[in-house]
Amino acid sequence: MKTLRLILGDQLNSNHFWFNKVDTNVSYVFMEMRQETDYVLHHAQKILGIFAAMRHFAGELEAKGHLVLYLKIDDPKNLQGLTQNIDRLIAEHSFNAFEYQEPDEWRLDEQLNTYCQSLNISSKMFSSEHFLADREDVGKLFVGRKKWLMETFYRQMRVKHEVLIEKMSSSIKPTGGQWNFDQENRKAWKGKPVEPNDARPTHDHRALWNSIERSGVKSFGNPQAENFRWPVSRTEALSHLKIFIDQILPHFGDYQDAMSVHSWRMFHSLISFGLNIKLLHPLEVIRAAEAAYVSDKVSLSAAEGFIRQILGWREYIRGVYWANMPEYVNHNYFGHETPLPDWFWTGDTKMNCVSHAIKQSLEHAYAHHIQRLMITGNFALLAGINPQALHEWYLGIYIDAFEWVELPNTLGMSQFGDGGLLATKPYVSSAAYIDRMSDYCKTCAYDKKKRLEKDACPFNALYWNFYQKHEDKLSKNPRIGMAYRQLAKMSAEELKAIKEKAAAIGKDLNQL
Ligand code: FAD
Ligand code: SF4
Repeated sequence: MKTLRLILGDQLNSNHFWFNKVDTNVSYVFMEMRQETDYVLHHAQKILGIFAAMRHFAGELEAKGHLVLYLKIDDPKNLQGLTQNIDRLIAEHSFNAFEYQEPDEWRLDEQLNTYCQSLNISSKMFSSEHFLADREDVGKLFVGRKKWLMETFYRQMRVKHEVLIEKMSSSIKPTGGQWNFDQENRKAWKGKPVEPNDARPTHDHRALWNSIERSGVKSFGNPQAENFRWPVSRTEALSHLKIFIDQILPHFGDYQDAMSVHSWRMFHSLISFGLNIKLLHPLEVIRAAEAAYVSDKVSLSAAEGFIRQILGWREYIRGVYWANMPEYVNHNYFGHETPLPDWFWTGDTKMNCVSHAIKQSLEHAYAHHIQRLMITGNFALLAGINPQALHEWYLGIYIDAFEWVELPNTLGMSQFGDGGLLATKPYVSSAAYIDRMSDYCKTCAYDKKKRLEKDACPFNALYWNFYQKHEDKLSKNPRIGMAYRQLAKMSAEELKAIKEKAAAIGKDLNQL
């Protein structure tokens, strides 16, 4: 058998059993394709990072003696589409078997599944050996239930993988007697402890960037090609992880929700790119955090808070995606249709918080979770931005954005577009929350305390208007009773004025 094995750009798992032994009947193919660069408009660093990592991984396989076929973006033989390229390779090299790893995105899963049904040689899909739960696990756990809860799944995963678990003869207990230390992760940052150094590797990827541009690929954001900072090999990703665990994790939990004009990454790990393209395995990241706790290097709340993101949220989100695709992408619970304001592409808005979150995303292809959720996502939901347009923006701009993880986070968690399957309440806030968790308001052109005046923070009127407008859909939700009790105390004139102010803001979002 002459076998062709496909490796997608986010399947760079060097510990996969495929690579255990060299087999001269097996060729591995990597393809840099317009199909993948063009399905949404991508940040330059996302394209550059994935191609650089693919090239590195292919080079490592070749060095170990594996046969590698590599289609560069500017290769004249590259037909720029997945199935067209495979067809050509099968014909040219007389392969009689085709194999691939389970794609993480529905779009590619569907494409390969359909393609394989039409192939006249044998074909087989293998596990990517990356995730800790199967695609179907979350769907099975919550079958028939209207409300799904991450915490239920997370506890099951802690037990299944024996993470921060104490086993007695007859019982299993979470370490420290508590499953979740979320309440301890809520501090604002006042400049101390000092922001960690950016210890990520540096690379000169100008040659690669030039070839991407010459091939006509469209992108946005700063490519930082001369000094590209994201890890593109397993060695780099592991050393980046070690620095995080040793130096930054102790502060992760405390400042998980904090934001500042002085720091674009706060105490976040910046590992999502390495994880999502599978340079890192989630369990090795989790075990590293657990070991730091066991050896007294970090507190239990810091270790647990970090582990929950990976063992809980990341796996849960993936399960929600697979249980609900392909319909999930079309949900729009509130019927929001407003297009993205132009400043989503430039960051040129007087709203200091939004400007910072967007400008740093254009610069680094990164914003941390609370910026994505409580700044850009919060604004979009309050302003009634179309969730599908927003989904495409998030999918394009972040270096770690792959649809299986981006879509449920954007459409479900951030926009409540699924009507509350993923989030128990809409994540919206007025300026009060943003001011509590950041220093953005201190240097903002808008006044965080005002609601109706010309210089009033737009979040304030939009926030109260959002609850008024969607009363029929939200007022029975017990988690937002407080907001409705406050609304009930407002006079009819006050409510009318808020409505009018929100309408005036909504008339031209580009002016904000
Ligand atoms: P840290 O804050 O250091 O967290 C550690 C790890 O936990 C992350 O690397 C990630 O793997 C995992 N994690 C944390 N929160 C989540 C979550 N909600 N869902 C899944 N995994 C999580 N994450 C992506 O990987 N890709 C995306 O495209 C993406 N889009 C998002 C869009 C929106 C609107 C929101 C609100 C969140 C999104 N997230 C996404 C989740 C989260 O914001 C990022 O994983 C995180 O910011 C990555 O940075 P980090 O590695 O420094 O994470
Ligand atoms: Fe953002 Fe409003 Fe604060 Fe300005 S005042 S930073 S717009 S929350």
